[in-house]
Amino acid sequence: MPFENIIGHRHQIVSLQTAVARERLAHAYLFHGEDAIGKRSTALCFAQALNCEAHASADAIDACGACRSCRQIEARTHPDFFVIEPDRELATPQIKIEQVREIEQQIMYRPLIGERKICLIDDADRMTIGAANALLKTLEEPPDHSLFLLISGRPSALPATIRSRCQALRFATPARTQVEAALIVKREMPPADARLLAMICEGRIGEALSADAKEARARQRELLELVRPATLQSVTAILSAAETLAKADRAPEILAWLARWIRDLVIVQVGGDREHLLHLDDLPNLETYARRAGTDALLDLLHDIEKTEQQATRHLNLHMAMENILLRLRDALALAPAGASA
Ligand SMILES: [Zn+2]
Repeated sequence: MPFENIIGHRHQIVSLQTAVARERLAHAYLFHGEDAIGKRSTALCFAQALNCEAHASADAIDACGACRSCRQIEARTHPDFFVIEPDRELATPQIKIEQVREIEQQIMYRPLIGERKICLIDDADRMTIGAANALLKTLEEPPDHSLFLLISGRPSALPATIRSRCQALRFATPARTQVEAALIVKREMPPADARLLAMICEGRIGEALSADAKEARARQRELLELVRPATLQSVTAILSAAETLAKADRAPEILAWLARWIRDLVIVQVGGDREHLLHLDDLPNLETYARRAGTDALLDLLHDIEKTEQQATRHLNLHMAMENILLRLRDALALAPAGASA
């Protein structure tokens, strides 16, 4: 597909196009940045642009998306284009040495139909030590016609020796408004749905493009039930909700959501920009709550949720943490009946 279909990342695209125009293309690039923001799509598009048979523009390379070469790269049947990626079905996805060796042999030969042999390595930080060492050998003396495009959301997990052989290109998370616009144009989504998905996915365009707006809405409605007065007024209801959610392993999701909801509440309370509200649809309720709650108590709660999330990997009892946070939220919102204690 043409570069114009990529959401954001203009600067990165132009710098790649310029490198080609000036014949300064490196043999290896490391595209890094948050997951699901368009690094892989840009790499695919770049591979297509380099081998595109349409030569649509004389100024800068681009992909037509329709010629034989572009279609073959998309379908991964192009004889000069290879993809190495971990088996994501496994509990610990890894890129194994055999995968690198196989491509290594292919890449030595001259391209069959294109200009370059291109190897895309997705989630490159998943390479085993053996795989990384094998790749390093090739990167130390890359064949002239070769190009490696490494993609990683955790570049620090890559061996420094590999990183130093690659030109790093950092990808920034696209702005929410860009994701929103893309959802409206590409998925013909109503603006309210596009806004909700863009907010939830926080710039992870890949996630936003494949997410189900109906399901997201249903989930938001379900989560909002947790903070309705009917739930928060009753300790029994809080404990039972916390138990059900913990049993379904949903504590991390709930904590993250509660943090978002409390942030909304604080925004309303301090008269912040309502454009930033996740629950803009639920504004009347937020306003009612905002009048009852103390900002300090909410900020304390927010801080503690973040702390709990960070410690979650240390076998913290998330069930109890969630209970505790909900009970404190009830206090912060002054929902406990007079004289009752939480
Ligand atoms: Zn093409």
